[in-house]
Amino acid sequence: MQHKIYLDNNATTALHAKVIERFYQLLQIFGNASSMHSFGRAAKTELDSARAKIAELISASSPDEIIFTSGGTESDNLAVIGVAEQLRSKGNHIITSAIEHPAVMSTCNYLMKRGYEITYLPVDHTGLINPKDLEKALTPNTILVSIMLANNEIGTVQPITELSAITKKHKVLFHTDAVQAMGKIPVNVQTLGVDLLSLSGHKFHGPKGVGVLYVRKGLKLAPQMHGGKQEQGMRSGTYNVPGIASMALALSLAVDEIKSETTRQTMLREKLFKGLEKNIPEIQRNGHAEKCLPNTLNVTFKYIEGESMLLRLDHDGIAVSTGSACASGSLDPSHVLLALGLPHELAHGSIRFSLSRETKEADIEYTIEKVAEVVKTLRAMSPLYNSLTPSSSPSPGGEGAGR
Ligand SMILES: *Cc1c(COP(=O)(O)O)cnc(C)c1O
Repeated sequence: MQHKIYLDNNATTALHAKVIERFYQLLQIFGNASSMHSFGRAAKTELDSARAKIAELISASSPDEIIFTSGGTESDNLAVIGVAEQLRSKGNHIITSAIEHPAVMSTCNYLMKRGYEITYLPVDHTGLINPKDLEKALTPNTILVSIMLANNEIGTVQPITELSAITKKHKVLFHTDAVQAMGKIPVNVQTLGVDLLSLSGHKFHGPKGVGVLYVRKGLKLAPQMHGGKQEQGMRSGTYNVPGIASMALALSLAVDEIKSETTRQTMLREKLFKGLEKNIPEIQRNGHAEKCLPNTLNVTFKYIEGESMLLRLDHDGIAVSTGSACASGSLDPSHVLLALGLPHELAHGSIRFSLSRETKEADIEYTIEKVAEVVKTLRAMSPLYNSLTPSSSPSPGGEGAGR
């Protein structure tokens, strides 16, 4: 049987079957939601109900706090640059972390070249930020803190409530990239205490190219898109009604399942790690064992290269990630793993397994078996591994390499 096992759900997820069905229906509602005639009003009805639903699902105090965007990247850019430009007269200092997604990190780098000062908070070996470091980094010039809720590569979940309590004392705005957390752990803007929060449809079985920026009432952002003044002037552009309304459905389906899926996926993730640990020597788990997304497992396999492993697993029908999404084609090791303190060679030998509602127990069993085979083969070809492990047999095929 041809296996097709998708364990790269932190990169993107498959559309939920109900979302596909709804999306098709919505494609017929083609009116411009800003038009006053019946075609426009039909689209506006869908838009309004999606906005209200999403506001409710993240406990926003009003639907007006939901701004629709083209996805997580745009939401992050609008939050960071929008605040930076809006509050330029108040200060030029932004605090973020060393493990942010490129959508925040590159945006901060861009602002740095334009005269802003950026502080990148370090993380400990599990990926956690120390709240004391945030307190120390604040200056009278600080206008924004942007720290992700859950990391996409290692799954570590930050203590956002505690961190935002610190910025509140200093009257500094707080943005969190919740793209990876949404639909996997509870997300409540009130308990998190954040002013801005980013979401993306395709990370919770919704469509690609649509996202949300939650903007707390009263807060104004410098627009990054200029035009028809949709979204209170903060984000111009004709509404993607099918995308927005099916994203709202995907979100509500995901939130409904959080409890049961957390239990199920945590069990599968632990089964995966225990199985790998039992069958493969010299591996290590990256990230925090408890303060972690239920679906994410990042593992370093010493003495091998993640890319070689990814390609061999793909051949066996298993899709995983090396963590560093090399969109640029560069083979630089993941900045997240380096920030945890992993040396380059270990960062290079790391694989991210990310599960979803569609992952079955049999998928995990097959994955354990195949990963063990692939690691054994690759290590047998590694002169370094063979020279460092005296127990390993030098015979071709290297069957003695570990076990
Ligand atoms: C995927 C992701 C993004 C980018 O979202 P897109 O909708 O793909 O632009 C941003 N932040 C995190 C943490 C992500 O995982």
